[in-house]
Amino acid sequence: HNKKSRESSYRFFDSEMDKEIKWRNFIIYNLDNAIENGHIIPFYQPQVLAINNEIYGFEALTRWIDPQRGMLLPGDFIPILEEYNITYKLDKYIANMVAKDMLKIIEEGREPLPVSVNISRSDFLMSNPCDDLISIVEEYELPRELFKVEITESNIISDPYRMKKEIEKFRSEGFQVLMDDFGSGQSSLGTLRDFEFDAIKIDMGFMKNFDERSKSIIKPIVMMARSLGIHSLTEGVENKEQLDFLREIGCEFIQGYYYGKPAPFESLYKEGRGVGKLVINEAVKNR
Ligand code: C2E
Ligand code: MG
Ligand code: MG
Ligand code: MG
Repeated sequence: HNKKSRESSYRFFDSEMDKEIKWRNFIIYNLDNAIENGHIIPFYQPQVLAINNEIYGFEALTRWIDPQRGMLLPGDFIPILEEYNITYKLDKYIANMVAKDMLKIIEEGREPLPVSVNISRSDFLMSNPCDDLISIVEEYELPRELFKVEITESNIISDPYRMKKEIEKFRSEGFQVLMDDFGSGQSSLGTLRDFEFDAIKIDMGFMKNFDERSKSIIKPIVMMARSLGIHSLTEGVENKEQLDFLREIGCEFIQGYYYGKPAPFESLYKEGRGVGKLVINEAVKNR
């Protein structure tokens, strides 16, 4: 390296770091404002029963719609919120928005479907997500079966004692718990051994690399779930070939672009489709 190239690479590095710091500051200092101004909303992605294409429920996935920057995805801001232990603000707010949406459905005389919300490990450090959820369902007078909680396998592994206690609390209070991203981290079998869940969500990575190796791994996972008496859901299903395989091996639930991308609440209502017991159709798929 001569002096010149070193200088220019430093400058490049600086500007990249600059951008990162600016982004971080934007997220941290604007979270409260964005929540207050309604710029953060849940999108909903259907979770479908594999055997009959019926929508069983939804996962709430956060979208931050910034007037200047457009739509921000969780990957753009959740890692930063996690670093600063402020995900609890977001997660509490999202659960609240989901409850409001459910209430709208009930007021229209429709039957709301269960929604699972994502919880970060850092929520537990600054708040009590289970108590938060209890006060939300009580405020809106909603049955607890309507709310499920998703916690990633890696979050669980990073603080197993604490997380075991928290998971047990959710379940004893009547909220189902789903282990998210199962198979993406280490010691998956250990978590199955030591933690009690209502369902596992098989990590999307197996669909991204949908080859014989992945199939050989998913099949026994689904069988294990069944013999443990817990539900299985595969994420990231994008095509019929994947769906057919998952049906064949008896995976109960499917989530992925094949059935529908995450979409805003209003679009679930379009054309009178509503959020009752509806069956996925082409229109829904193409959202
Ligand atoms: P996740 O909980 O595992 O959610 C699944 C992610 O996969 C979502 O990304 C979803 O949009 C995407 N996805 C679903 N089906 C397909 C598909 O067929 N193909 C592809 N390529 N992707 C698919 P998203 O919405 O960007 O969220 C990313 C992650 O951010 C989530 O992963 C979850 O861990 C986290 N997250 C999202 N919303 C929240 C939230 O409100 N609170 C917390 N704490 N975490 C959240
Ligand atoms: Mg999830
Ligand atoms: Mg996942
Ligand atoms: Mg994930």
